[in-house]
Amino acid sequence: MIYDVHAHAWRYPDHFNDTFRNQAIRMRGYELDLTPEYASYLASARTAGQPVKTVVFGGKARLSGLWTPDSYVAAYCAEYPDQAIPFMSLDPTQDGWRDEMTEGREHLGMRGIKLLPMYAGFYPQDPELDDLWQYAARNDLPVLLHTGTTFVDQAPLDCTLPRHLDAVAIKFPECRIILAHLGHPYEGETVAVIRKHPNVYADVSALHYRPFQLYHSLMLVQEYGVWNKLLFGTDYPVTTVDDTLRDLRGLNGMLEGTALPRLDIAEMEEMIHRDAGEILGID
Ligand SMILES: [Zn+2]
Repeated sequence: MIYDVHAHAWRYPDHFNDTFRNQAIRMRGYELDLTPEYASYLASARTAGQPVKTVVFGGKARLSGLWTPDSYVAAYCAEYPDQAIPFMSLDPTQDGWRDEMTEGREHLGMRGIKLLPMYAGFYPQDPELDDLWQYAARNDLPVLLHTGTTFVDQAPLDCTLPRHLDAVAIKFPECRIILAHLGHPYEGETVAVIRKHPNVYADVSALHYRPFQLYHSLMLVQEYGVWNKLLFGTDYPVTTVDDTLRDLRGLNGMLEGTALPRLDIAEMEEMIHRDAGEILGID
């Protein structure tokens, strides 16, 4: 089985404001069709050759102009109850997030929390958020955070730094935390944080189309001995399972004719087949 811990559900363009959509062109250099359909997602996972399970969330960040209601994500996942695992999104800068948190777990069946600290403009280690981390820990809700850069002008980069999750993990060591996108291009900070905290992981989503950077980041992971803390992810609809698998497995090919060290393919395959559902307690 392949467990993708990072895919989106939202209605494009309705859940985004115009500024967000214009700035999103910076992501890949052209306007992407960001309309996710789970059937298309599965169709783009053919080379997996085995069942795929997927953590699915929308996103809430008023500052950046993104707001997907959790009920939308719950309905999207309800059509594929054995495969699509819904996570709620919270924007703690907006009134009502505590109600959305209990509503998401108790009434919508959300099994984890997605946060966008930089997009929404908050620090994950802010003591104001202790309620959130306590609730997540008490109810076994893993928390996945966007860490790493963005294309959005008004989103403060400082809020996204992976090092902030060190303070959270020291205070809430039982909470399961996933740093998305290896914190790119701050992968060194991510490696430092996941190495010292048993319940903190990182996903490799949305990195394969920068192959040298990804090679370099995975060499950091390898040299620090933290392959076991990585989880497979795509960031669908930004990219797909098939494209991510192809490019991950092709990274060493870039080194042909050089003496550069190779990525450990056995470790990479273990990562690709890691049972995130069991690790995160969401199955
Ligand atoms: Zn994402």
